[in-house]
Amino acid sequence: MTKRAYNFNAGPAALPLEVLRQAQEEFVDFQGIGMSIMEISHRSKQYEQVNDEAQALIKELLGIKSGYEVLFLQGGASTQFAMIPMNFQKPGQAAGYVLTGSWADKAIKEAQGIGETYVAASGQASGFRRIPDLGEIEVRPDAAYVHITSNETIAGSQYAAYPDTGSVPLIGDLSSDILCRPVDVSKFALIYAGAQKNLGPSGVTVSIIRDDLLQNEAKHLPTMLRYGTHSKSKSLYNTPPVYSVYIMNLVLKWIKGNGGLEAMERINRDKTKLIYDAIDGSGGFYQGLVEADSRSLMNITFAIGSEELEKKFIQESEQQGFVGLKGHRDVGHMRASTYNAVPYESCKALAEFMNDFRQRNG
Ligand code: PMP
Repeated sequence: MTKRAYNFNAGPAALPLEVLRQAQEEFVDFQGIGMSIMEISHRSKQYEQVNDEAQALIKELLGIKSGYEVLFLQGGASTQFAMIPMNFQKPGQAAGYVLTGSWADKAIKEAQGIGETYVAASGQASGFRRIPDLGEIEVRPDAAYVHITSNETIAGSQYAAYPDTGSVPLIGDLSSDILCRPVDVSKFALIYAGAQKNLGPSGVTVSIIRDDLLQNEAKHLPTMLRYGTHSKSKSLYNTPPVYSVYIMNLVLKWIKGNGGLEAMERINRDKTKLIYDAIDGSGGFYQGLVEADSRSLMNITFAIGSEELEKKFIQESEQQGFVGLKGHRDVGHMRASTYNAVPYESCKALAEFMNDFRQRNG
């Protein structure tokens, strides 16, 4: 039997074992064609089916019946940081950004080079320990849009609910929490996510865009940077990252087969409870880096009293088969990423390790 690590990587991250096994089985001969999916045209009926199926599954899982298009793009979520203002900001119109941490900051910095921006709310004063209250978010009636980062992968914070921005389009970066729980998509004009956490391997970026935004987009942009280009061609304008989309399709089927987003949320709550309980029950040995009501279901961040103990924690955890627990270099400390594909058993093992480590070092 293959020995699998307790994989808590932040992204690229764990994929479901069942998906990897199926991909392995189909690797050299996809559906009996004597070739892999990477060796055939993206305009073949086999690939078109994968592409269509994946788009339909995203809509089905998110409960989207009409009014939105699912696009598969390239360049990562980082390219969306630029495409959004390029496509949706008119001259003289400002775009609002809610600053919740490093990723929101990257998004606004990119937008600042393109048009006018304003900070609609900020968690900076709290050291990004909490998501601002929804009522604190300034929605200017003439704003091009308001942008939020649903889950701050580095800080370990997540919106518990989304703001209501009325007629101003709400745009959400859901890169690190898409499909971890049900979402009311109707609140959003656009949702985007790089695939490499909950959706599959890196290489494909999903954008879910409301139809009316496609009509308003700027026309003077390079072809590849227009949402309209990709919507008109079912995301097959140029050669897509076929293998990433293929694996994503398998991941989407896995989510559906495991009960969809309600089930994902239930399991993610159970998984993260194990680890948050280990933090909260440690009598201060472990310190969570985010306030309780802003805690993430996907990235759990915590500190231990001293640098020395943190080093020891990482060393010992690695010896016991845990991977990826070192915090992001910007914030340090520890981070456990518990995406959909991270099994309950891995989280249970981590909680047990944390309790044992505390007893030995507390
Ligand atoms: N936004 C968030 C919330 C992220 O976590 C990441 C990647 N970790 C990005 C954007 C950037 O994504 P990409 O590497 O696909 O450009």
